[in-house]
Amino acid sequence: MGLRRMKTIVDYLNYNAEHYAKKHAVIMLNDKGEEAERLTYSEINQKILTLAGYLQQNFNKGDRALLLYRTGVEFIVAFMACEFCGIIAVPMSLYAKKSPHFHRIEHIMQDAAVNLILTTEKLHGEVLEWLAETPYAATPCLPSDVLVGNRPWTSADVQPEDLAFLQYTSGSTGNPKGVMVSHGNLIHNSLLIKHKYQHDNNTVMGGWLPFYHDMGLIGLILQSLYLGSTLVLMSPVAFVKHPMNWLKAISDYKINTSGGPNFCFEHSIEKANDQKLEGIDLSHWHACFNGSEPIKSQTIDAFSERFARFGFSRNLFYPCYGMAETTLFVTGGTPHVAHETLTVDREALAANKIIFQTPDSSSAVTLVSSGQAYDLDVVIVDPVSHQRLADGEVGEVWIHGESVAQGYWGKPEQTREIFHAELSPSNGKHYLRTGDMGFQQQNELYITGRQKDLVIVNGRNIYPQDIEQRIKESEPLFASGLSAAFGLESERGERVVVVQEIDKRHGLEPEQLTQLITRLRFEIGRYFEVPVAVITLIARGTLPRTTSGKVQRRRTKEMWLKGELPSVFGFDELPVASK
Ligand code: ATP
Ligand code: MG
Repeated sequence: MGLRRMKTIVDYLNYNAEHYAKKHAVIMLNDKGEEAERLTYSEINQKILTLAGYLQQNFNKGDRALLLYRTGVEFIVAFMACEFCGIIAVPMSLYAKKSPHFHRIEHIMQDAAVNLILTTEKLHGEVLEWLAETPYAATPCLPSDVLVGNRPWTSADVQPEDLAFLQYTSGSTGNPKGVMVSHGNLIHNSLLIKHKYQHDNNTVMGGWLPFYHDMGLIGLILQSLYLGSTLVLMSPVAFVKHPMNWLKAISDYKINTSGGPNFCFEHSIEKANDQKLEGIDLSHWHACFNGSEPIKSQTIDAFSERFARFGFSRNLFYPCYGMAETTLFVTGGTPHVAHETLTVDREALAANKIIFQTPDSSSAVTLVSSGQAYDLDVVIVDPVSHQRLADGEVGEVWIHGESVAQGYWGKPEQTREIFHAELSPSNGKHYLRTGDMGFQQQNELYITGRQKDLVIVNGRNIYPQDIEQRIKESEPLFASGLSAAFGLESERGERVVVVQEIDKRHGLEPEQLTQLITRLRFEIGRYFEVPVAVITLIARGTLPRTTSGKVQRRRTKEMWLKGELPSVFGFDELPVASK
């Protein structure tokens, strides 16, 4: 098939299997960072065809297949086999049994009305055991790596408007919703990523990002299969345990594009170990992407400085912005070109205005640009009047274009509200409401935070991440723990609550902690001009997070209100510090 007639990821894979048969498609690393498996395009294609033959015989186009896997080739094969048959894939990870994670899987089973479950032979017993205890015990559950059909696969005539998969959102702000991504969406977004990152089939993609979230699935795995390039993959668990193995893999395999959310760079700095990195070279890293969470300028500086001796430089950072509702990618920079930053006034920002500041000013905030869009219409809109705002005005980010997904599975009302918004006056186009706040400046998009997480005190918008960052900076004990700040209505007006992780081995006496917290409450209260009601300390690793590692502020608030957070230490109702 000629390149121009290729409309779906199935076409691309067939093309690559034919033209790059002997090239390595996937290299898997184990949790020690050692190579575990390699497959060429021809080998992976064969496995996909074998499974697709079976699925085609036993299931129908449009069925939903829940994919329960750990990071590995088996997942990639099962996902692609579904695409080959027009079956709608629903990727999920499989963690230890009985974790709360299984409630999430059950929720998704019901929400997506799943027709079949695929997993590996190794995990099959475990999955069947769990399934037997759910209302879905009758759903077929099959080990995909040993299935063989009686008849060869034949084209399922998959069209751009057919759904490719349901991408469940991370659940940072509520229950995960199943975003309907069509084949057309996937190809449009894959093309955007290729263009903006200047990828070609010699680009080596790699990293540890989870396959069940948009950034790992579309940004790494599918981008690599789409390009016909080589993918080097390790598991998120491997990264969390030994982040240096990630950097080592980038050097060993000459990976060009790799990255993750901001926290992964902080984690790498924390666990940096020069001995382990001896002799590595990061200079061929082409795009070190940072997205999916607020991008911190301090982290970029610290990472660039810490790993400069290994050939890393600041220009390799590639900030980007996206979400499941737009398939993945919305904006990004230009490889090897330093990204823009703006230093603005915090007070003006609270009133949705941008006023430039000098970095040394006490009310300065430095924002990192998430780059520019390509072939997508990104506008900033007043979330109440729906009027378009000018450059330098903060409002909600709205998006129109071919990467915008088809809506939320089984939720027509939410789909209408979120995916079919119109500007006032209308330009006849439908826009996606992202729920993110931001502004544009000379075509660059700056994300300032999520609407739902804003702490609004007397009409001023306070961004929780600024409070969290300030606490980290003012107290070394809290520098590496996570925290969540949120607003709390009280009789005395809106106040702020902070839940902060602390290491159990901090070695401080209760009185010292009391003093520390009292000082911080006053400091934060004065700095942000808002009363801080409580700072609760919880053990490290216990703050509610999504499976992609994002802090869940709303969930934290709910749990805090119900007294469900196991507080190590906390107290409230001290004299409140305000101005
Ligand atoms: P849910 O929608 O279930 O609450 P989620 O929004 O975290 O979860 P994703 O689609 O995985 O689910 O993440 C997209 C969101 O991540 C964006 O809407 C935005 O809030 C945040 N994000 C992505 N990139 C950036 C960025 N460069 N800067 C700031 N925030 C970002
Ligand atoms: Mg979201």
